[in-house]
Amino acid sequence: MHPANGRKQIVILGGGSGGIVAAAHLGRSLGNKHDVILVDRREDHVFMPAFLFLMVGQRNPADITRKLKKVEKRNVKFVQAEVIGIDPDHQEVGLSTGKIPYDYLIVSLGLQTRPDMVPGFQESAHHAWELDAAMRVRSAIESFKGGRILVGVPLGPYRCPPAPYEAQWMLDTYFKQRGMRDRVSIEYFTREPEPAGEAHDPVVWMDAESKRRNIRQHYEFIVHSINPERKMVMGLYGYALSYDLLFMVPPHRPAQVLYDCGLADAETGIRVEYDTLETKWENVYAIGDCADMPASKAGGVAHQEADILAHNLKVKLTGQGEPKPVWLHTI
Ligand SMILES: Cc1cc2nc3c(=O)[nH]c(=O)nc-3n(C[C@H](O)[C@H](O)[C@H](O)COP(=O)(O)OP(=O)(O)OC[C@H]3O[C@@H](n4cnc5c(N)ncnc54)[C@H](O)[C@@H]3O)c2cc1C
Repeated sequence: MHPANGRKQIVILGGGSGGIVAAAHLGRSLGNKHDVILVDRREDHVFMPAFLFLMVGQRNPADITRKLKKVEKRNVKFVQAEVIGIDPDHQEVGLSTGKIPYDYLIVSLGLQTRPDMVPGFQESAHHAWELDAAMRVRSAIESFKGGRILVGVPLGPYRCPPAPYEAQWMLDTYFKQRGMRDRVSIEYFTREPEPAGEAHDPVVWMDAESKRRNIRQHYEFIVHSINPERKMVMGLYGYALSYDLLFMVPPHRPAQVLYDCGLADAETGIRVEYDTLETKWENVYAIGDCADMPASKAGGVAHQEADILAHNLKVKLTGQGEPKPVWLHTI
């Protein structure tokens, strides 16, 4: 527990979309009456929705990163360290730099990319789900002379479900602008069934938009492995797709530390109460991609959850205002 009388220590793990919003909100609303600490292994906040723009050369890394230390202007202390454990009995977080106590803990550690989970992925697939990987796709498409680009998604959760559709369209536009679209075929595979329904349903609309751009869609294709020598993506039941350049979303899972400490036990994240974001441990909350909420793994969702939770914690600590229900706007 935090030693000083009446002062509470709120620790936020992860300075991504959810963590940075929660930290800034709490720092602003609690002033210097309580202590707000933000922890991340990185020095920078990285704005991941811009990775596709990085890939096609419309942004550079400096445009989409900000020093996390800047949050200190808002009464928040930033600690750069690896989170290595959470001990709910002693209300302590284990960091690579030592232990810190908490009165309230907000976990916003996101999902981690796990290319190792698909055999052959690391040797053969490109993706834009990490900053360095997005920069490698940029080089790969710059030097691409023509052939088949295969875009696809794995089983399980991943950041931003619509992004693979955006990636297809951005590649289509990119090669049109370079005057070589006639030499590039783009195809897409997904484990999902072919969408059906009203034209305004987002998935129906996205499917139609891809077909309008002459991008062939392979539905119910479940990736088993990749054969780099034959340049084939191997699916279940003997299906296979060939490629000249493979662009595939890697599998994602919650941070290993969340499994190791016992807070997460599902591949979709930490179980939370949907209306409060409380976890099974007292005074520990989860938001964003690492929370198992019935919502997309998206920055917009993480932002809304962070705002609502920060508001409700402020109400709890100051007794001022009314708590808000977790009411998310998402597709
Ligand atoms: C290509 C792409 C396009 C996207 N497009 C959109 C979009 O258009 N709209 C949208 O809403 N969302 C989009 N997203 C998704 C969005 O970026 C994520 O959903 C969002 O960042 C999740 O926020 P978060 O706070 O839960 O996790 P993150 O932003 O992933 O932050 C987690 C933080 O925790 C840190 N961390 C993790 N483990 C540890 C550890 N053990 N120790 C210390 N630090 C650790 C990481 O360094 C990271 O800073 C996109 C994502 C990608 C990759």
